[in-house]
Amino acid sequence: MPTVVPTIIQPSLAAILALPPGISGETPESLAAWFAARGEPSFRARQVLDAAWRTGAASPDDITTLPAPLRAALASSFRWDTVADSELQPSDRGATEKALHRLGDGVVIESVLMHFPASAGHRERNTLCISSQAGCAVGCPFCATGELGFGRDLLAAEILDQVRHAARRVAARGRRLTNIVFMGMGEPLLNLDRVLEAVEALNDPKRFGLGARHITVSTSGVVPGIRRLTALGPQFTLAVSLHAARDPLRDVLVPLNRRWPVAEVVAVAREHAGATGRRITYEVTMIGGVNDTDTDANAMADLLRGDLAHVNLIPMNPVAHTPWSASPMAVIERFAAILRAAGIETTIRHNRGQEIGAACGQLAADHAGAPTPAVVAHRRERLVAQSAAALRGERSREPAPVGVGGGTGGPAPAEARE
Ligand code: SAH
Ligand code: SF4
Repeated sequence: MPTVVPTIIQPSLAAILALPPGISGETPESLAAWFAARGEPSFRARQVLDAAWRTGAASPDDITTLPAPLRAALASSFRWDTVADSELQPSDRGATEKALHRLGDGVVIESVLMHFPASAGHRERNTLCISSQAGCAVGCPFCATGELGFGRDLLAAEILDQVRHAARRVAARGRRLTNIVFMGMGEPLLNLDRVLEAVEALNDPKRFGLGARHITVSTSGVVPGIRRLTALGPQFTLAVSLHAARDPLRDVLVPLNRRWPVAEVVAVAREHAGATGRRITYEVTMIGGVNDTDTDANAMADLLRGDLAHVNLIPMNPVAHTPWSASPMAVIERFAAILRAAGIETTIRHNRGQEIGAACGQLAADHAGAPTPAVVAHRRERLVAQSAAALRGERSREPAPVGVGGGTGGPAPAEARE
């Protein structure tokens, strides 16, 4: 009988770093220096950046303003695209489109493009949700990426090439990207250096040229990362994935809470809002019977009362291997009413692309590989027991996830290895 050997891709930052750098990760200064080293004037850098970011050139060969030898040198020194290939999966009658991108070492990451037509008082929006890591070490149990465990950090060019790909697709439809959200795979604040490089390129008028207000970075609550952002001043909108205001429950829903408890996360977010004058967005994934009780709504109201904050309630997208599903809409409305009565601006977000698992924060399920039924049953039992204990107010004794300390990642959380 033939043996079926599954292909397991070992994500390898070392392998990726051995390849030529991606052109999208180059700054105007670094490219000017590259040309200067060849005795070429600095305006050449401008020609290359325009080709990479504006004209949608498919390779350096398309830069007809450059002499052929320079085009060849450029092609051998840089990767014009760090995405080896992409597969598109449309849904919502084309209004949502998931892209699976295979990178240089074979790992697959995902981005999601969402089209929102103009409505009363709002212009049309084309929002791209991008990934900052392959997988994620934080391990939130309702999140498909969390179930994957940690793969590797993405390079700035790999983050940015998701944007260049989508920009080309929307341009072909006579539109442009209006918003970028770091809500795909990964915890951006655990890959903060590269995320900041990417944001700089997105902001830079010589490169993507998107205003800071149109960029949102979402974090599960990496306190030192938030402090670092506060010191830098306003760069983008900061979104914090809150999910629960009580530690016992947040310990289960966002395992990072065992390291940085909710009061500390909200305190640094409050400092960030105070220092930057920018409102914090708090995201709450609404999970039926788990974090949607009146007690939870009241705890959240007490925690955020008087803050420069906005709460977004998001019905949980179905994710395989969890015992949970979205709260009923009536329960979400009731939760919202409690927050609003405390003076907290609250909206309810309706998720997109559910049928293809393309909602932001619901990426990579298809690549997780199917765990055995026994592992799934064990996981479900454990989550039911943990959330029940949390609702009784008992704190988890499990340690914080490993590999979340330095930004270099680390091994996957225990459950992904079960
Ligand atoms: N790691 C970062 C950013 C990526 S996740 C963070 O956690 O903030 C982006 C958002 O998607 C987070 O608010 C996350 O909680 C949410 N999310 C993850 N899985 C989800 C699901 N199954 N249903 C609804 N929202 C989900
Ligand atoms: Fe990571 Fe965010 Fe998913 Fe949590 S919700 S596992 S932090 S990607």
